[in-house]
Amino acid sequence: MVIAEWGERVETMTEDLAATRREFHRIPEIGFEEYETSALIAQKLRALGLQPRTGIGGTGVVALIEGAHPGKTLLMRADMDGLPIEERTGLPYASTHPGRMHACGHDTHVTMLLAAAQLLLERREDLHGCVKLVFQPAEEGLGGARAMIEDGVLENPHVDAAIGCHIWNDMPVGLVGVREGPIMAASDRIKITIEGQGGHGAMPHHAVDAIATAAQVVTTLQTIVSRRVSPLQAGVVTIGTIHGGYASNIIADRVEMQGTVRSFDEDVWEQMPIQIEQVVTGVCAAMGVRGTVEYHRGVPTTVNDSGMTKLVREAAIEALGEERVVVPEQSTGGEDMSLFLRAAPGCFFYVGSQNPAKGADKPHHHPEFEVDEDAMPNGVKVLVASALRYLGKTAD
Ligand SMILES: [Zn+2]
Ligand SMILES: [Zn+2]
Repeated sequence: MVIAEWGERVETMTEDLAATRREFHRIPEIGFEEYETSALIAQKLRALGLQPRTGIGGTGVVALIEGAHPGKTLLMRADMDGLPIEERTGLPYASTHPGRMHACGHDTHVTMLLAAAQLLLERREDLHGCVKLVFQPAEEGLGGARAMIEDGVLENPHVDAAIGCHIWNDMPVGLVGVREGPIMAASDRIKITIEGQGGHGAMPHHAVDAIATAAQVVTTLQTIVSRRVSPLQAGVVTIGTIHGGYASNIIADRVEMQGTVRSFDEDVWEQMPIQIEQVVTGVCAAMGVRGTVEYHRGVPTTVNDSGMTKLVREAAIEALGEERVVVPEQSTGGEDMSLFLRAAPGCFFYVGSQNPAKGADKPHHHPEFEVDEDAMPNGVKVLVASALRYLGKTAD
């Protein structure tokens, strides 16, 4: 099998993968500020003989691998932003940027896509169509995928399918996770403002208490998931901040709260703003205060297409063996890969990177987050095998 040849080649690249990943790990930048990162990506793409386009959707980078034969276009996406976290791993290749850290593993995504590009370039003869390499800024809640789509990344050439992956510390190294349907949640943001009337803490009957109302609102919001969403569907309403009040003997006239809302199913996603509005305005009306909700849509559910999921699963089994390809749990985390998957059928898969023996057991976004770098060859193999399948002669 041809896969054996390049599969072995990936094994020989393992040290290079680690070295490249560490280069990126040292220079984390947050969303839309990935100047050094995108310059380094562009430099590495040029070294491969590609002609990257930079500044797409802010700091995004795009490059096209043209197969030897005409055909479809497969988008392969890596996000590249870090987080506003001070790294505490103590590793020799830890962040050199104060207050910035690759704590979600996006440095490995960039590395794996660069390696996949190198291997696919060597296999241009086998490609019927194009691979569009997309290095996306600002995945962490700042709208990088949207910015790139608005900047035309899905056209010229038109994208027919999309794949991407996330390094995954919830899954042991050696495994990859491929799941059809919803895999990551829709993620929205809410801000609730409650306006009562201030007064003396000893004379509540002369005031309208915003804090007592806020307490009712927080409690009642929890009944949306427990009483209104079907027990067979999932949802989360979390109030993460609550601010109000001045002193122990003053009744607060105003409370502001912020929260996050997660769901998987389209109908739950559509109902959430309506039900949250009902709870806030209803409870506030009962308490005689004014309540308002600002509901901000974040990213929709990440949904894997059945045909593309089958293709990626088969590619993963071919590349890694059946026992290493699992169906992962859904995650209530949000992902803006969802926007690419809304525009084109595709599959977003997980690359297991957990290994307590190497200190790779912290959750994503933790200041001591580290991955087992031996995960990366698995991701590269699945990316390359999927692209060869999609753009191979047998693809229709
Ligand atoms: Zn993240
Ligand atoms: Zn991430």
